[in-house]
Amino acid sequence: MAKDIYSIGVIGAGTMGSGIASVSALHGYKTYVYDVNRHALTKAHAIIARGYDTLVEKNKIDVKERKRSEASLYYISDIEEMAGCGLIIEAAVENIDLKKIIYGQLNEISHKDAILATNTSSFSVTALSSAVSRNKERVIGMHFFNPANKMKLVEIIKGEYTSDEVVKQAIDITKKLGKVPVVCKDTPAFIVNRVARSFYGEALKILGENNMDVKDIDAIMKEEGGFAMGPFELMDMIGIDVNYSVTKSVFEAFYYDPKYKPHNIQQKMVEAGMLGKKSGRGFYQY
Ligand code: NAD
Repeated sequence: MAKDIYSIGVIGAGTMGSGIASVSALHGYKTYVYDVNRHALTKAHAIIARGYDTLVEKNKIDVKERKRSEASLYYISDIEEMAGCGLIIEAAVENIDLKKIIYGQLNEISHKDAILATNTSSFSVTALSSAVSRNKERVIGMHFFNPANKMKLVEIIKGEYTSDEVVKQAIDITKKLGKVPVVCKDTPAFIVNRVARSFYGEALKILGENNMDVKDIDAIMKEEGGFAMGPFELMDMIGIDVNYSVTKSVFEAFYYDPKYKPHNIQQKMVEAGMLGKKSGRGFYQY
């Protein structure tokens, strides 16, 4: 029988890791947040605390709940400290080689019943399971959306080796985190990110053809298209680097189908360090 999960490890304290960790602690899980970059840990700590403050101000949680959630969070620089976690969610940068190294580490440190989930936006879960020599059936995708503390959907990705029992456990814990799980096949970028490629790609092409500026395209998509955010606002929120990596990975995974081709505007912005909201400048200035 599957063991109950009491503690969750989150690898990577960036945009997604901090959001997932904040949700996890809020829902009563002892939560370990690990990052190789100490500055990322400090920043995540401050962002999570500010998020809890907002929830208190909006009367969504009380001061006691806030304190309990904060006290459930452990910001760690040694991955071994999450060895006892029942679920580990990897949310490090979108780079397959790095993710494989992390899965190699998890192979060494995680306990045999732990679920090893990845928050990858585009990579094959099956490819990541190849980096573990034991418990391949416990590797799964749990793809949260940005901002993780608000967005309800979590895509649950079943790799070639993932067992049905682990899928069931992942669905169960996703619901316990107040989210809505949707099971997907292990195809490049799964559902939402695959559909969204055209949203970003076509907007970038229009911009590149000098037909219209960023603000006008965003305004039309929101006001006439009914989208909550325009493509450029959304790319800035995701991170231009993250979105570019996902586009490259999808393009490659579909054998260079031109429909998924990255745009050189993305490349130039990454080279310039214009990474969106997180760097203070992207398509917009923050
Ligand atoms: P980010 O760049 O904001 O954060 C990544 C973090 O990983 C950084 O803090 C970095 O220091 C850390 N890191 C790098 N190497 C590491 C290692 N070896 N061990 C531990 N930590 C390491 O990226 P993000 O936007 O949070 O994306 C993380 C993952 O979530 C990616 O796989 C991405 O595709 C996915 N994702 C992103 C979004 C989004 O909108 N940004 C949405 C859904 C999923």
